[in-house]
Amino acid sequence: MAIAQRVRQHMQAASWIRGMFEQGIELKQQYGADNVYDFSLGNPVLEPPAQFYEALHQLVTHPKPGMHRYMPNTGYPETRAAIAAQLARETGAPCSAEHIVMVVGAAGGLNVVMKTLLDPGDEVMIFSPYFVEYHFYVENHQGVSTVVRTDAQFNLDLEAIAQALSPRTKMVLINSPNNPSGVVYPAATMQALGELLQQKQAEFGTQIYLVSDEPYKKLLYDGLIYPEVYPYHANSIVVTSHAKDLALPGERIGYIATNPACADVHELQDGLSFANRTLGFVNAPALMQHVITQLQGVTIDMRQYARKRDLLCTNLAAMGYRFVKPQGGFYLFPRTPIADDVSFVRALLQRRILTVPGSGFGTPGYFRIAYCVEDSTIERAFDGFREVAREYGLS
Ligand code: PLP
Repeated sequence: MAIAQRVRQHMQAASWIRGMFEQGIELKQQYGADNVYDFSLGNPVLEPPAQFYEALHQLVTHPKPGMHRYMPNTGYPETRAAIAAQLARETGAPCSAEHIVMVVGAAGGLNVVMKTLLDPGDEVMIFSPYFVEYHFYVENHQGVSTVVRTDAQFNLDLEAIAQALSPRTKMVLINSPNNPSGVVYPAATMQALGELLQQKQAEFGTQIYLVSDEPYKKLLYDGLIYPEVYPYHANSIVVTSHAKDLALPGERIGYIATNPACADVHELQDGLSFANRTLGFVNAPALMQHVITQLQGVTIDMRQYARKRDLLCTNLAAMGYRFVKPQGGFYLFPRTPIADDVSFVRALLQRRILTVPGSGFGTPGYFRIAYCVEDSTIERAFDGFREVAREYGLS
Protein backbone atom coordinates (compact mmCIF):
# COMPACT_ATOMS: atom_id res chain seq x y z
CA MET A 1 0.00 0.00 0.00
CA ALA A 2 1.29 3.46 -0.90
CA ILE A 3 0.19 5.50 2.09
CA ALA A 4 2.85 7.01 4.35
CA GLN A 5 4.20 4.88 7.21
CA ARG A 6 3.39 7.59 9.75
CA VAL A 7 -0.22 7.82 8.66
CA ARG A 8 -0.54 4.03 8.74
CA GLN A 9 0.93 3.88 12.24
CA HIS A 10 -1.41 6.57 13.55
CA MET A 11 -4.40 4.89 11.97
CA GLN A 12 -3.43 1.56 13.52
CA ALA A 13 -2.92 3.14 16.96
CA ALA A 14 -6.49 4.46 16.86
CA SER A 15 -7.96 1.36 15.18
CA TRP A 16 -9.67 0.02 18.31
CA ILE A 17 -11.64 3.26 18.60
CA ARG A 18 -12.65 2.92 14.97
CA GLY A 19 -13.57 -0.70 15.61
CA MET A 20 -15.96 0.38 18.32
CA PHE A 21 -17.58 2.97 16.10
CA GLU A 22 -18.01 0.31 13.43
CA GLN A 23 -19.64 -1.97 15.98
CA GLY A 24 -21.94 0.93 16.82
CA ILE A 25 -22.95 1.30 13.17
CA GLU A 26 -23.66 -2.45 12.99
CA LEU A 27 -25.80 -2.24 16.12
CA LYS A 28 -27.81 0.60 14.59
CA GLN A 29 -28.40 -1.45 11.45
CA GLN A 30 -29.42 -4.45 13.52
CA TYR A 31 -31.63 -2.79 16.15
CA GLY A 32 -32.56 0.54 14.53
CA ALA A 33 -30.91 3.84 15.42
CA ASP A 34 -33.56 4.60 18.08
CA ASN A 35 -32.61 1.50 20.03
CA VAL A 36 -28.90 2.33 20.15
CA TYR A 37 -27.87 4.98 22.70
CA ASP A 38 -25.04 6.83 21.04
CA PHE A 39 -23.02 9.00 23.43
CA SER A 40 -19.80 8.64 21.45
CA LEU A 41 -19.53 11.93 19.56
CA GLY A 42 -19.62 15.61 20.50
CA ASN A 43 -22.08 16.35 17.71
CA PRO A 44 -24.71 18.66 19.23
CA VAL A 45 -28.34 17.62 18.90
CA LEU A 46 -29.50 21.24 19.38
CA GLU A 47 -30.28 23.24 16.26
CA PRO A 48 -28.69 26.68 15.77
CA PRO A 49 -30.54 29.67 17.35
CA ALA A 50 -33.32 31.44 15.42
CA GLN A 51 -31.02 34.44 14.82
CA PHE A 52 -28.77 32.21 12.72
CA TYR A 53 -31.58 31.41 10.26
CA GLU A 54 -32.67 35.06 10.19
CA ALA A 55 -29.13 36.23 9.30
CA LEU A 56 -28.79 33.47 6.70
CA HIS A 57 -32.18 34.27 5.19
CA GLN A 58 -31.32 37.97 4.97
CA LEU A 59 -28.08 37.17 3.14
CA VAL A 60 -29.69 34.77 0.72
CA THR A 61 -32.59 37.10 -0.10
CA HIS A 62 -30.40 40.25 -0.27
CA PRO A 63 -27.05 39.03 -1.61
CA LYS A 64 -24.22 41.54 -1.64
CA PRO A 65 -22.13 41.72 -4.82
CA GLY A 66 -18.89 39.76 -4.45
CA MET A 67 -19.90 38.04 -1.23
CA HIS A 68 -18.66 34.65 -2.43
CA ARG A 69 -15.29 35.83 -3.73
CA TYR A 70 -11.81 35.46 -2.26
CA MET A 71 -10.98 37.88 0.53
CA PRO A 72 -7.92 38.68 2.68
CA ASN A 73 -6.53 35.42 4.12
CA THR A 74 -7.35 36.64 7.62
CA GLY A 75 -11.05 37.07 6.77
CA TYR A 76 -13.49 39.97 6.28
CA PRO A 77 -12.51 43.13 8.18
CA GLU A 78 -16.08 43.66 9.44
CA THR A 79 -16.31 40.07 10.76
CA ARG A 80 -13.00 40.42 12.57
CA ALA A 81 -14.04 43.81 13.97
CA ALA A 82 -17.32 42.37 15.31
CA ILE A 83 -15.46 39.51 17.02
CA ALA A 84 -12.82 41.85 18.43
CA ALA A 85 -15.49 44.15 19.87
CA GLN A 86 -17.18 41.20 21.58
CA LEU A 87 -13.84 39.91 22.92
CA ALA A 88 -12.90 43.37 24.20
CA ARG A 89 -16.16 43.39 26.18
CA GLU A 90 -15.51 39.90 27.57
CA THR A 91 -11.79 40.16 28.34
CA GLY A 92 -11.25 43.86 28.94
CA ALA A 93 -8.28 43.73 26.52
CA PRO A 94 -7.94 46.30 23.71
CA CYS A 95 -8.73 43.75 20.96
CA SER A 96 -9.16 45.00 17.41
CA ALA A 97 -9.70 43.40 14.00
CA GLU A 98 -5.93 43.12 13.46
CA HIS A 99 -5.72 40.55 16.31
CA ILE A 100 -8.25 38.19 14.71
CA VAL A 101 -7.75 35.55 12.01
CA MET A 102 -10.83 33.71 10.73
CA VAL A 103 -10.19 29.96 10.40
CA VAL A 104 -11.77 26.67 9.39
CA GLY A 105 -13.00 25.57 12.83
CA ALA A 106 -10.93 25.34 16.00
CA ALA A 107 -9.21 22.29 14.52
CA GLY A 108 -8.02 24.34 11.54
CA GLY A 109 -7.07 27.18 13.90
CA LEU A 110 -4.90 24.96 16.09
CA ASN A 111 -3.05 23.73 13.01
CA VAL A 112 -2.53 27.32 11.83
CA VAL A 113 -1.13 28.34 15.24
CA MET A 114 1.17 25.31 15.37
CA LYS A 115 2.47 25.81 11.84
CA THR A 116 3.19 29.44 12.71
CA LEU A 117 4.98 28.81 16.00
CA LEU A 118 6.70 25.41 15.90
CA ASP A 119 10.19 24.61 14.76
CA PRO A 120 11.03 20.90 14.45
CA GLY A 121 11.41 19.36 17.92
CA ASP A 122 9.64 22.20 19.77
CA GLU A 123 7.53 20.92 22.64
CA VAL A 124 3.80 21.41 23.06
CA MET A 125 2.54 20.66 26.56
CA ILE A 126 -0.89 19.01 26.71
CA PHE A 127 -2.86 17.77 29.70
CA SER A 128 -4.46 14.39 30.21
CA PRO A 129 -7.27 13.76 29.73
CA TYR A 130 -6.86 15.49 26.37
CA PHE A 131 -8.63 15.83 23.02
CA VAL A 132 -6.84 13.04 21.17
CA GLU A 133 -6.42 14.96 17.93
CA TYR A 134 -3.86 17.23 19.65
CA HIS A 135 -1.16 14.58 19.19
CA PHE A 136 -1.78 14.42 15.45
CA TYR A 137 -1.86 18.22 15.07
CA VAL A 138 1.45 18.58 16.92
CA GLU A 139 2.98 15.90 14.76
CA ASN A 140 1.67 17.60 11.60
CA HIS A 141 4.08 20.45 12.37
CA GLN A 142 7.08 18.39 13.57
CA GLY A 143 6.46 19.28 17.18
CA VAL A 144 6.69 16.92 20.14
CA SER A 145 3.79 16.63 22.59
CA THR A 146 4.62 16.47 26.29
CA VAL A 147 1.75 15.03 28.32
CA VAL A 148 1.22 16.24 31.90
CA ARG A 149 -1.46 14.67 34.07
CA THR A 150 -4.11 16.78 35.79
CA ASP A 151 -5.00 16.21 39.47
CA ALA A 152 -7.80 14.03 40.89
CA GLN A 153 -10.35 16.78 40.14
CA PHE A 154 -8.88 17.21 36.60
CA ASN A 155 -7.50 20.62 37.53
CA LEU A 156 -4.03 21.69 36.38
CA ASP A 157 -1.17 20.43 38.57
CA LEU A 158 1.22 23.40 38.74
CA GLU A 159 4.07 21.39 40.28
CA ALA A 160 3.91 18.77 37.53
CA ILE A 161 3.83 21.55 34.93
CA ALA A 162 6.87 23.27 36.49
CA GLN A 163 8.77 19.97 36.29
CA ALA A 164 7.85 19.36 32.67
CA LEU A 165 8.52 22.85 31.24
CA SER A 166 11.80 22.98 29.34
CA PRO A 167 13.77 25.38 27.16
CA ARG A 168 12.14 23.58 24.21
CA THR A 169 8.57 24.27 25.42
CA LYS A 170 7.07 26.60 22.83
CA MET A 171 3.43 26.14 23.61
CA VAL A 172 1.23 25.16 26.54
CA LEU A 173 -2.14 24.05 25.20
CA ILE A 174 -5.11 24.19 27.54
CA ASN A 175 -8.78 23.40 26.94
CA SER A 176 -11.38 24.81 29.34
CA PRO A 177 -14.23 23.88 29.60
CA ASN A 178 -12.51 20.61 29.03
CA ASN A 179 -13.31 17.81 26.65
CA PRO A 180 -13.70 15.20 28.18
CA SER A 181 -13.75 16.20 31.87
CA GLY A 182 -16.15 19.19 31.79
CA VAL A 183 -13.82 21.07 34.16
CA VAL A 184 -13.35 24.85 33.92
CA TYR A 185 -9.94 25.99 35.20
CA PRO A 186 -10.50 28.53 38.01
CA ALA A 187 -9.05 32.06 37.87
CA ALA A 188 -6.60 31.19 40.68
CA THR A 189 -5.20 28.33 38.59
CA MET A 190 -4.91 30.56 35.54
CA GLN A 191 -3.10 33.17 37.59
CA ALA A 192 -0.65 30.60 39.00
CA LEU A 193 -0.08 29.19 35.51
CA GLY A 194 0.59 32.67 34.10
CA GLU A 195 3.09 33.43 36.86
CA LEU A 196 4.85 30.10 36.29
CA LEU A 197 5.11 30.67 32.53
CA GLN A 198 6.54 34.16 33.03
CA GLN A 199 9.07 32.81 35.52
CA LYS A 200 10.13 30.05 33.10
CA GLN A 201 10.30 32.44 30.14
CA ALA A 202 12.74 34.57 32.18
CA GLU A 203 14.71 31.52 33.34
CA PHE A 204 15.05 30.01 29.84
CA GLY A 205 15.17 33.27 27.88
CA THR A 206 12.34 31.98 25.65
CA GLN A 207 8.75 32.83 24.74
CA ILE A 208 6.20 30.28 25.93
CA TYR A 209 2.77 30.70 24.30
CA LEU A 210 -0.33 29.80 26.25
CA VAL A 211 -2.77 28.57 23.62
CA SER A 212 -6.33 28.31 24.89
CA ASP A 213 -8.63 26.01 22.92
CA GLU A 214 -12.06 27.40 23.82
CA PRO A 215 -14.86 25.98 21.67
CA TYR A 216 -16.89 25.31 24.86
CA LYS A 217 -16.30 28.74 26.47
CA LYS A 218 -19.96 29.80 26.27
CA LEU A 219 -21.27 26.45 27.49
CA LEU A 220 -21.12 27.16 31.22
CA TYR A 221 -23.41 25.99 34.03
CA ASP A 222 -24.62 27.40 37.32
CA GLY A 223 -23.87 31.05 36.49
CA LEU A 224 -20.12 30.43 36.27
CA ILE A 225 -18.09 33.37 34.88
CA TYR A 226 -15.41 32.26 32.44
CA PRO A 227 -11.83 32.93 33.65
CA GLU A 228 -10.21 34.49 30.57
CA VAL A 229 -6.57 33.74 29.73
CA TYR A 230 -5.44 37.18 28.51
CA PRO A 231 -5.15 38.81 31.96
CA TYR A 232 -2.73 36.14 33.17
CA HIS A 233 -0.17 35.75 30.38
CA ALA A 234 0.74 38.26 27.67
CA ASN A 235 1.87 35.56 25.23
CA SER A 236 -1.59 34.02 24.97
CA ILE A 237 -3.63 33.03 21.96
CA VAL A 238 -7.29 31.96 21.93
CA VAL A 239 -8.44 29.42 19.35
CA THR A 240 -12.14 28.81 19.10
CA SER A 241 -15.14 28.22 16.85
CA HIS A 242 -18.91 28.46 16.72
CA ALA A 243 -19.22 24.68 16.47
CA LYS A 244 -20.74 24.35 19.92
CA ASP A 245 -22.00 27.77 21.06
CA LEU A 246 -24.04 28.27 17.86
CA ALA A 247 -24.34 24.51 17.11
CA LEU A 248 -22.59 24.85 13.73
CA PRO A 249 -19.89 22.12 13.73
CA GLY A 250 -20.45 21.24 10.09
CA GLU A 251 -20.05 24.83 8.91
CA ARG A 252 -16.39 24.97 10.01
CA ILE A 253 -16.30 28.54 11.20
CA GLY A 254 -13.83 29.63 13.87
CA TYR A 255 -11.19 32.19 14.70
CA ILE A 256 -7.81 32.78 16.31
CA ALA A 257 -7.65 35.77 18.67
CA THR A 258 -4.21 36.88 19.75
CA ASN A 259 -3.72 38.78 23.00
CA PRO A 260 -2.91 42.37 21.95
CA ALA A 261 -0.13 42.27 24.58
CA CYS A 262 1.61 39.31 22.87
CA ALA A 263 5.30 39.75 21.97
CA ASP A 264 5.88 40.68 18.29
CA VAL A 265 2.14 40.69 17.70
CA HIS A 266 2.32 42.06 14.13
CA GLU A 267 4.83 39.45 12.97
CA LEU A 268 2.76 36.77 14.67
CA GLN A 269 -0.42 37.91 12.87
CA ASP A 270 1.43 37.91 9.54
CA GLY A 271 2.65 34.39 10.30
CA LEU A 272 -0.87 33.19 11.10
CA SER A 273 -2.20 34.66 7.85
CA PHE A 274 0.60 32.96 5.88
CA ALA A 275 -0.01 29.61 7.60
CA ASN A 276 -3.78 29.84 6.99
CA ARG A 277 -3.11 30.36 3.29
CA THR A 278 -0.36 27.79 2.80
CA LEU A 279 -2.02 25.01 4.78
CA GLY A 280 -4.51 25.27 1.96
CA PHE A 281 -7.41 26.69 3.95
CA VAL A 282 -6.88 30.05 2.14
CA ASN A 283 -9.71 31.61 4.18
CA ALA A 284 -12.59 30.58 6.42
CA PRO A 285 -15.98 29.93 4.71
CA ALA A 286 -17.24 33.26 3.33
CA LEU A 287 -20.98 32.83 3.87
CA MET A 288 -20.50 31.82 7.50
CA GLN A 289 -18.24 34.81 8.13
CA HIS A 290 -21.07 37.08 6.94
CA VAL A 291 -23.56 35.25 9.16
CA ILE A 292 -21.58 35.17 12.39
CA THR A 293 -20.69 38.86 12.07
CA GLN A 294 -24.27 39.45 13.21
CA LEU A 295 -24.30 36.78 15.90
CA GLN A 296 -21.56 37.79 18.30
CA GLY A 297 -23.13 37.60 21.74
CA VAL A 298 -25.71 34.97 20.68
CA THR A 299 -25.49 31.46 22.20
CA ILE A 300 -27.63 28.33 22.06
CA ASP A 301 -30.05 27.84 24.96
CA MET A 302 -27.82 26.47 27.74
CA ARG A 303 -30.82 25.50 29.84
CA GLN A 304 -31.25 22.51 27.55
CA TYR A 305 -27.73 21.21 28.20
CA ALA A 306 -28.13 21.98 31.92
CA ARG A 307 -31.26 19.79 31.98
CA LYS A 308 -29.42 16.95 30.22
CA ARG A 309 -26.44 17.25 32.55
CA ASP A 310 -28.62 17.14 35.67
CA LEU A 311 -30.73 14.25 34.39
CA LEU A 312 -27.62 12.20 33.65
CA CYS A 313 -25.65 13.14 36.77
CA THR A 314 -28.51 12.56 39.22
CA ASN A 315 -29.34 9.14 37.81
CA LEU A 316 -25.78 7.89 37.31
CA ALA A 317 -24.76 9.02 40.81
CA ALA A 318 -27.72 7.07 42.24
CA MET A 319 -26.48 3.97 40.37
CA GLY A 320 -23.05 4.32 42.01
CA TYR A 321 -21.04 5.95 39.22
CA ARG A 322 -18.39 8.40 40.45
CA PHE A 323 -17.49 11.56 38.55
CA VAL A 324 -16.66 15.26 38.75
CA LYS A 325 -19.84 17.17 37.88
CA PRO A 326 -19.25 19.12 34.65
CA GLN A 327 -18.99 22.91 35.03
CA GLY A 328 -19.13 23.43 31.28
CA GLY A 329 -19.31 21.70 27.89
CA PHE A 330 -21.46 18.61 27.33
CA TYR A 331 -19.32 15.67 28.39
CA LEU A 332 -19.32 13.55 31.54
CA PHE A 333 -16.16 11.58 32.41
CA PRO A 334 -16.97 8.99 35.11
CA ARG A 335 -14.56 6.47 36.61
CA THR A 336 -14.86 2.91 35.37
CA PRO A 337 -15.34 0.42 38.25
CA ILE A 338 -12.53 -1.73 36.81
CA ALA A 339 -9.13 -0.57 35.62
CA ASP A 340 -9.75 -1.89 32.11
CA ASP A 341 -11.87 0.89 30.67
CA VAL A 342 -12.00 -0.73 27.23
CA SER A 343 -13.66 -3.87 28.66
CA PHE A 344 -16.08 -1.71 30.62
CA VAL A 345 -17.05 0.25 27.53
CA ARG A 346 -17.58 -3.07 25.71
CA ALA A 347 -19.97 -4.14 28.50
CA LEU A 348 -21.97 -0.95 27.88
CA LEU A 349 -21.85 -1.66 24.15
CA GLN A 350 -23.58 -4.99 24.83
CA ARG A 351 -26.47 -2.90 26.22
CA ARG A 352 -26.31 -0.85 22.99
CA ILE A 353 -24.76 2.11 24.84
CA LEU A 354 -21.92 3.76 22.92
CA THR A 355 -19.30 5.67 24.93
CA VAL A 356 -15.55 6.23 24.57
CA PRO A 357 -12.92 4.69 26.90
CA GLY A 358 -10.68 7.10 28.83
CA SER A 359 -7.65 5.47 27.14
CA GLY A 360 -8.74 7.40 24.03
CA PHE A 361 -8.00 10.59 25.99
CA GLY A 362 -4.74 9.34 27.54
CA THR A 363 -6.54 8.55 30.81
CA PRO A 364 -7.43 4.87 31.35
CA GLY A 365 -9.86 4.03 34.16
CA TYR A 366 -12.55 6.46 32.95
CA PHE A 367 -15.08 6.68 30.14
CA ARG A 368 -16.65 9.62 28.31
CA ILE A 369 -20.35 10.19 27.82
CA ALA A 370 -21.20 12.94 25.28
CA TYR A 371 -24.66 14.04 26.48
CA CYS A 372 -25.38 16.44 23.59
CA VAL A 373 -28.19 14.02 22.64
CA GLU A 374 -31.99 13.90 23.00
CA ASP A 375 -33.29 13.63 26.58
CA SER A 376 -35.08 10.43 25.54
CA THR A 377 -31.75 8.84 24.54
CA ILE A 378 -30.40 9.58 28.02
CA GLU A 379 -33.53 8.26 29.73
CA ARG A 380 -33.72 5.10 27.67
CA ALA A 381 -30.07 4.25 28.36
CA PHE A 382 -30.57 4.22 32.15
CA ASP A 383 -31.59 0.54 32.30
CA GLY A 384 -28.38 -0.46 30.53
CA PHE A 385 -26.22 1.81 32.71
CA ARG A 386 -27.91 0.32 35.81
CA GLU A 387 -27.41 -3.29 34.70
CA VAL A 388 -23.72 -2.73 34.03
CA ALA A 389 -23.33 -0.87 37.34
CA ARG A 390 -24.78 -3.90 39.15
CA GLU A 391 -22.65 -6.34 37.16
CA TYR A 392 -19.52 -4.50 38.28
CA GLY A 393 -20.59 -4.10 41.91
CA LEU A 394 -21.37 -0.37 42.00
CA SER A 395 -23.94 0.80 44.49
N1 PLP B 1 -10.91 21.21 20.50
C1 PLP B 1 -11.68 20.46 21.27
C2 PLP B 1 -11.34 20.28 22.70
C3 PLP B 1 -12.81 19.83 20.73
O1 PLP B 1 -13.58 19.05 21.50
C4 PLP B 1 -13.11 20.01 19.36
C5 PLP B 1 -14.26 19.35 18.73
O2 PLP B 1 -14.98 18.59 19.29
C6 PLP B 1 -12.26 20.82 18.60
C7 PLP B 1 -11.17 21.41 19.19
C8 PLP B 1 -12.51 21.04 17.15
O3 PLP B 1 -13.52 21.98 16.99
P1 PLP B 1 -14.01 22.46 15.52
O4 PLP B 1 -15.13 21.57 15.13
O5 PLP B 1 -14.39 23.86 15.71
O6 PLP B 1 -12.83 22.28 14.62
